[in-house]
Amino acid sequence: MSFRAYAAPAAGKELEPIQLERPSELGPFDVEILVECCGICHSDIHLIDNDWRISSYPLIPGHEVVGKIVRKGALVQNVKEGDRVGVGWQCASCLACEWCERGEEPACDHHVATCVGRPGGYAEYLIADSRFAFPIPEALPSESAAPLLCGGITVFTPLSRFASPSDRVGVIGIGGLGHLALQFARAMGCEVTAFSTSPSKEAEAKRLGAHHFVVSTDEKAMKALANSFDLILSTVTADLNWPMWLSLVRKHGRLQLVGASPGNISVPVMQLVGGQKTISGTIIGGRAGIRKMLAFAARHGVRAQAEVLPLDRVNEAVARVRANQARYRMVLKVQ
Ligand SMILES: [Zn+2]
Ligand SMILES: [Zn+2]
Repeated sequence: MSFRAYAAPAAGKELEPIQLERPSELGPFDVEILVECCGICHSDIHLIDNDWRISSYPLIPGHEVVGKIVRKGALVQNVKEGDRVGVGWQCASCLACEWCERGEEPACDHHVATCVGRPGGYAEYLIADSRFAFPIPEALPSESAAPLLCGGITVFTPLSRFASPSDRVGVIGIGGLGHLALQFARAMGCEVTAFSTSPSKEAEAKRLGAHHFVVSTDEKAMKALANSFDLILSTVTADLNWPMWLSLVRKHGRLQLVGASPGNISVPVMQLVGGQKTISGTIIGGRAGIRKMLAFAARHGVRAQAEVLPLDRVNEAVARVRANQARYRMVLKVQ
């Protein structure tokens, strides 16, 4: 039996409908998911455009998938038919190496990405390894849960690792990642400051959980914040003035990157050594982290704010993400 998916035929091209065959047999640990919805992440755009030189075509993007399990392989134990599950960026790893044992599966040398070299979630069905399919708590609606599978875990990982409840946390960029970071940091008990270049985002940022809002191009306001943050999280993909942002971090504080900014970071060594500061980066999170993140989001009302469009309007949805117009995440409704 065949099903519908949307694929980019070549780098940078609009997506076109294609038909795929459902496999007659599943791998022993695989599940077949009837896709309910799928978020559109900036990484999908990078894959469509072959920016990372890892794409093959036709390319079916999609790695923020929520749906119901309709079939499972012979050895699947953790989920069953009818369960509503989510699949994020990573869909497999070796499960045997040091990193997998530590719950740091994204660092595994055999890390497999959900929509690289295999069909992703802009489709009616998705095959995934059951061990990377996470039950979605009942309190989370599918459309607002889907973006948590990649965007949510990307900001939850550093916040849960580095932020304490009394910390002052700054979030650079109020977009797909930033709007989730504000909610998580607020729910964790932090004093939260939103930084944006758009003054128009103040009311929204505060509604999402920011105690304070600062326009990052306001030099005077920025100077007044020198040495005040325990943690600053950069969610943007721009080449920022890194010494300036590091100057806002207090002693023993951290400037943490989750956005893939281009270029190099150059800061005065004495700023790092004298201030005993750290600059670091993380990607997504391991399986245990994703489970915790989903439970935390369900308990504390963290919800991705999504604009929902049907799957057949995928090119319109992708265009909104490309133009940074999504408020704050685009989600494709498949069923
Ligand atoms: Zn992603
Ligand atoms: Zn491994």
